[in-house]
Order: sequence, then structure tokens, then C-alpha cells
Amino acid sequence: MKAPRKALVPDYYAEFHCIGSECEDSCCAGWTVPINRDTYNRYKQHRNPVLAPLFREYVRKNKNTATQTEAYYGFMELKPDGSCGFLRDDKLCAIQKELGAQALCNTCALYPRQVNRFGGQPEQSLNISCPEAARLVLLRPQPIAFASIDGAARFQDAQALMRRFPEGHDGVPEEMAIFRELRSLCLAIVQLRPLALDARLMLLGMVMENADRIIIADTYTNAGDLEPVIVLGQQMLQHAEMLNAEFAKLAANQPFKLKTLGNLLRNTLADQENARFSECLADAVAALFGQADAGGAEGGDILGRYEAAYADYYRPYFQGREYIFENYLANEIFRQIFPLMNESPFRLYQELVCNYAIVKLLLVGMAGRHRGLNDALVVKLFQSFSRKASHDSVYLRCLLDSLREQRSESLVHMMWLLREPDR
Ligand code: SF4
Repeated sequence: MKAPRKALVPDYYAEFHCIGSECEDSCCAGWTVPINRDTYNRYKQHRNPVLAPLFREYVRKNKNTATQTEAYYGFMELKPDGSCGFLRDDKLCAIQKELGAQALCNTCALYPRQVNRFGGQPEQSLNISCPEAARLVLLRPQPIAFASIDGAARFQDAQALMRRFPEGHDGVPEEMAIFRELRSLCLAIVQLRPLALDARLMLLGMVMENADRIIIADTYTNAGDLEPVIVLGQQMLQHAEMLNAEFAKLAANQPFKLKTLGNLLRNTLADQENARFSECLADAVAALFGQADAGGAEGGDILGRYEAAYADYYRPYFQGREYIFENYLANEIFRQIFPLMNESPFRLYQELVCNYAIVKLLLVGMAGRHRGLNDALVVKLFQSFSRKASHDSVYLRCLLDSLREQRSESLVHMMWLLREPDR
């Protein structure tokens, strides 16, 4: 058998262990769990007295010829309440309990790990839509670093791949080296601690805007065209003080921020199904918008409530804890192969900034509601928001459509979503 290749992983990766029945959430609730052909056949032929009736009831063939593949040959049918039919009363999985972890389908065995391939290089990370992964990724004060480990063979199975860049092949080595440098620059920017976090996002936006201009131009030939952008970005890393001063010159636009984020919440998140996120959303909406829905975000009252919750409860918790948002951004850049999985790096940047700004707004509201924040509330919001944002393709399309409809797509608009007034 071919030896598994080394995989590049964040340094928190090996510490992850599923906490099973201790978990505050249920990882499979409400999701489509695809099953490959081998697993489907194995489950359907199984004679285990506990599992056989459950396999008959809850394992279904994917009869949609447009989507049926080896990897998506079948799926787990959920119960009417959205829970998994194999989840026992003690919140443990019946398949794992009866047959061991090796009997789980790829989707369940991997989660919350995510397997990508960047060029020929396997990469693995954690999705913070799992509460235990969220604690591990977000709450560590030191910056996330990366290391090579021996990859598990199962995780290098092509069917386990979530993202691959370039699509379908390993790419040209010289070009991949430049793309790798671009992503490393993005990581270096969000981890540049002498620079305020919002100013780091401003610098990231400038680099993505420059990269965008080159990639979408008719004259673009190959990754080599991006080298001047990378060199300029690397030089900017040396001028944190100047960038802090530039960001400070930008005027805040609180009415724009609250109205835009209120609209994004209404258009993209209001119909969500996860109970933990519903609680966070209800807390934030009650504290910031009173009884009005999030889309009515206009007027001095809302601004006043936001300012008070920010100053009295949000800022005291986050002072000295900027690393929580930094870790979120660094993990997303690595996990999503940012900024390369879309032909427009600036589109991916908009998505990153909007998600960041929505999480921050909700945390300000939650801080107001609870008269303070703690690690448990912060993890609850990041985790439940990520369940929506990273497992729902419609959310992303709605988010970007909503920005377009509001004509709020430029770098200046992104800065207004980030900027807090000097207090
Ligand atoms: S969400 Fe994470 S910790 Fe919870 S049961 Fe799933 S894998 Fe385990």
C-alpha cells in the first residue's frame, strides 16, 4: 500500500478529540450526510441486530442522477426534527458504539476535520462549527502556526477531499509556489500583531483589490503576474505604524454599518434552524433592535444601544483578546484556501469581512443582553454562526447578492463595516 503523504496542519490540530456525550451541540443535526457506494452497500447488508433496522430505515440511495457519484451514492435520512436516526439518548452514535469508529462513513469519521489539497500538498484543518474545535482554535493566545504530520490514509482518500486547488490537478510547480506565497502573505497580514486587527483587514483588502485587478484583466497570463502585488504587500508588513495611522484617518460610518449588517442578518440568517444560533440571534436582536426585526436597523436609538453595549460590555472582554478574531481569520484563510478558490480574490475578501462584521455585531448585542461576555458565549456564537456560514451554500450567495443590491461592495464600504469611532 502507498504510504500516506505528510499533511500540512495547524499546530492545534492534533489536540482535537470529540467530546461525544459532553458536547453542547450535535454535529449531524440538520445536515446532509453523504455516503459513498462501499459504505452504502456495507450498511445495507449488515446483520447487527441493533443497527440493521436502523440502516433499513435511515440509509437512503441518492436517486438524483444529476448529483449521484461514487462519493454521494447514498445519504443518511434525518428524522423529522432534523436529528440523526443513529444518535442515541446518551448523544452517542449507535454505529460507533456497536461497530467502532472505523465503521463510520467518511463524512462522520472526518468531521470536524477538513481535508484539502493545495497543489500536491494534502492539508487538514478543523471547522469551528464543532464547539470543541471552536474552543481549541479560538481561545489560544499564541498565533496559529503550521507543521507537517504523517497524514492518515483515510484522510487522503480522494472522496474525503473538501477543497482542491487547482481543481482536478496539482498545478504547475512554479505557479503553485507563487500562489502559496500569496496565501502566506494573507496569513502574515492577519497575524501582524503590531497592527490593530481592523487595520490588518484594511491592508488585506488593499492587497486583494490589487490581486483582483491583475487576475481579472485581459492581459493576465499566469501566477507570475501577481509577484509585484506580493512584493508590495510584503513591504507593507514593515510599516505597521504608518498603516495604523492611515486606518485611524478613516471616518467611521455607524449608521451605514448598522443598516447594512441589519439587512444582511435579515436577508441571510433569519431563517436559520440551529437552536444555539437562534438563541444568540434573539439575544443580539433584543439588545440592539428592541422588538424590531434586524432589518429595521436605523435611527439613533439603535446606534445608542450599540455604542453603550460596545463600550460597557463588549470592549472590556475583548481588550487583550483580539487573538480570538485573529485565530478565526487565520483558520478561515487556511481552511478555505483563501484567496484562491474564486476567480475574484476580492469577492472572497468581502465574504470574510462580512462574516467578521456580522459576528462582531452579534457579539456586541449579546454583550449588551448578558451585561458582559465570557468564553462560553463567544464560542457559542462563533460555532453556531459557522454551522450556518460554512455548511450552507445559499447563505453565501445571499450574502454577496445582498451587498450588490445595497451597492456596498467597495473597499471603503468594507472599511465602514469594520471601523469603530474613536472613543
Ligand atoms: S460537534 Fe464536535 S465535539 Fe460535538 S459530537 Fe460532533 S465532533 Fe464531537
